Amino acid sequence: MADTKYIFVTGGVTSSLGKGIIAASLAKLLQARGYKTTIQKLDPYINVDPGTLNPYEHGECFVTDDGAETDLDLGHYERFLNVNTSQANNVTTGRIYQSVIEKERRGEFLGKTVQVVPHITNEIKERIQILGKSGEYDIVITEIGGTVGDIESLPYIEAVRQLVWELGENNGIVIHLTLVPFLSAAGELKTKPTQHSVKTLMESGIKADILVCRTEHELSEDLRDKLALFCNVKREAVIQSIDASTIYDVPNMMYDEGLDTVTLKKLALPDDTQPDLTQWNAFLSRHKNPKNEVRIGLVGKYVELQDSYKSILESFIHAGAENEVKVHVEFIHSEHIDEKTVTENIAGLDGILVAPGFGERGVEGKIKAIQYVREHNIPFLGICLGMQMAVIEFARNVLGLEHANSTEMNSQTPHPVIDLMEEQKNITHMGGTMRLGAWKCNLKEDSQVRKVYDSEQISERHRHRYEFNNQYKTQVEEAGMICTGLNPDTGLVEIVEIPEHPWFVGVQYHPEYKSTVASPHPLFVAFVKASLQYKTNKTNATLA
Ligand code: GLN
Repeated sequence: MADTKYIFVTGGVTSSLGKGIIAASLAKLLQARGYKTTIQKLDPYINVDPGTLNPYEHGECFVTDDGAETDLDLGHYERFLNVNTSQANNVTTGRIYQSVIEKERRGEFLGKTVQVVPHITNEIKERIQILGKSGEYDIVITEIGGTVGDIESLPYIEAVRQLVWELGENNGIVIHLTLVPFLSAAGELKTKPTQHSVKTLMESGIKADILVCRTEHELSEDLRDKLALFCNVKREAVIQSIDASTIYDVPNMMYDEGLDTVTLKKLALPDDTQPDLTQWNAFLSRHKNPKNEVRIGLVGKYVELQDSYKSILESFIHAGAENEVKVHVEFIHSEHIDEKTVTENIAGLDGILVAPGFGERGVEGKIKAIQYVREHNIPFLGICLGMQMAVIEFARNVLGLEHANSTEMNSQTPHPVIDLMEEQKNITHMGGTMRLGAWKCNLKEDSQVRKVYDSEQISERHRHRYEFNNQYKTQVEEAGMICTGLNPDTGLVEIVEIPEHPWFVGVQYHPEYKSTVASPHPLFVAFVKASLQYKTNKTNATLA
């Protein structure tokens, strides 16, 4: 195909309508028809990336192979498409301005007044087209964060207006996602907010080609006619997006509504193929028809906002389907666990995952939970901070190093079993300076992880500043916690296991960033399997 086609997804009426899921679902359908498709998110905030945001503010920070700290929507894109994203797939206002200001300082605009239009909008247009110009994709979907009419979205909307015009007919189209609210007092769905938001878009010179309407109730034929008439779109381009019980249903729902067909028509692309969703639907069927269930505790300190652990929760869905098991994730606030409450919090569960995190709050609860699962043979998966806490727990309670700690929590600890990485010691800037992205790891023969991955070497994604202190390696290993995964170049400990325990694995990296529908992460699959085994053994013991 000659040139890349562009689809812009804007949002109206309110935020949180699920633009990311709609974009990912459309991308899935186009990919399933054989079109090479990628998705990009433009975020209108001034942080250069979301790495410096508290998870309570913005949910999880998703990390790509190339070490970009990005919006959690990129996680959805990867999980739906099974294709890696990169730094180019997430652009923020902060990054746009940073780049324009650096150019200004270098003298690239010498003699000119640097302005939002054209300099900022040109930079946005350039960023949008980077993926298209790579030659790797037939179609690039660009999701514009925020809602039309927001002050901070204006430069993006203007850039989209210019691009649609420059690209010419059938090469760049706009999908507008809106809400059609149901007023229970009137017993009616209302189109007015959608009409207004389409109007706002038009005031900025953009005509929506397709309307995707989020709704709690079916849109009647009359209502669809009305939306088409008042919003200036073809009748077939009014797409209903009704609430779904799982996000993984949305591609099929969009197919039933003809979103892919109308998109291809608008882009003047052939639609003589049918999307091949065989693998996707096989996953859905396993997901919806579990033969068993397990209850896994997620111990963390951001549990009030589930988006903080988005990729972990989705990984459990993939791994559950793979095992034909429904995974009930029980959120346990690490600050609520102490000597007295640990049993009531943990005892009945079939597995425990201790989550990633930063800072001191809640870590003692995590350590208590780990001691309990270690001593009671409950399957355990520790991720990043969770792995570090497993090492601390082992040092304190097995090696007898009473005040063992991470220097992140106590810089004066007599036993810094987790310590700041050497290369981190002179770092003063907080943004984008952690050990990030994909690093290799060699797996020890005869280990749990070697079996799980069925490979000698793996590559996983990272986001941390602290590491296992290798001065304690011999001591820790002699007492029964084995370092079964090491970075081949630096010897940095990536994985610890306790072979005496049925399933106890701590990983310095984030397996959750690499689990997809097509390729559930082996570590999550094995952890869910071990939890099911634990549950079965427990039931059998009770019956005996
Ligand atoms: N705070 C720890 C570190 O920086 C763990 C980070 C994490 O869990 N992502 O090493």
